[in-house]
Amino acid sequence: MIAQQIKAAIRDIPDFPKPGIIFKDITPILKDPELCENIVEAFVEQLKGVRIDVVAGIESRGFLFGLTLATKLGVPFIPVRKAGKLPFTIKQKAYKLEYGTATIELHTDAFEPGQHILLHDDLLATGGTVTAASELIKEMGGVVAGFSFVVGLGFLNGRERITPICDKLVVLAD
Ligand code: AMP
Repeated sequence: MIAQQIKAAIRDIPDFPKPGIIFKDITPILKDPELCENIVEAFVEQLKGVRIDVVAGIESRGFLFGLTLATKLGVPFIPVRKAGKLPFTIKQKAYKLEYGTATIELHTDAFEPGQHILLHDDLLATGGTVTAASELIKEMGGVVAGFSFVVGLGFLNGRERITPICDKLVVLAD
C-alpha cells in the first residue's frame, strides 16, 4: 500500500544529473503531507523492537524524513554531511565513488560511544554512502542499529552490500 503510494508519487527524470542515470525525484512526495505522515508511520511500525538511540540522516535528502522520524521516535537527529559543511570539530571518512572519492563527516560530539544509530537516507543505490557512514560510526564507538530508506534501486545490489553490516533494513518501496 505505502510502496504503491511512494512509487506513484516519485518522478523519474532520465539522464539527470548525467546521461544514463534515471534520477528518482522525491519532491512530489514532499508536496503530499498525508503521504509524508504515512511514510514516517511506516518507518516507526517497521522499526518496532529495534533499539534506536539516535537517527543519523545522510546529506541532503536523508535530512527530510530523518529528522521527522527521530522526532517521532523521541530520539536525537544527527546530520551526516559532505566535507567542509560542519562547523564544530569533526571526524571524517573518505570512500570510493564510481569515479573519484567523496568524504563524509560527523561532529565529534554527535553521539555517545555505545549508542545505537539508525542510518537513514531517501534512496538506497549502491549502498556506498551508508557503508562509509557505518564505518565512521563504528570508528567513533557507535553501534549501527539498522538502515531505513524511502526507496531502493534493487538492481544496484545495495541490500546485499549493507545487510552484512546490520541486517535490520527497512526499504518502504523496493
Ligand atoms: P549510494 O551511495 O550509491 O547508495 O547512493 C546513495 C545516494 O545517492 C543517496 O543519497 C541518493 O539520494 C543518491 N542517489 C543515487 N542514485 C540516485 C538516483 N538514481 N536517483 C536519486 N538519487 C540517487
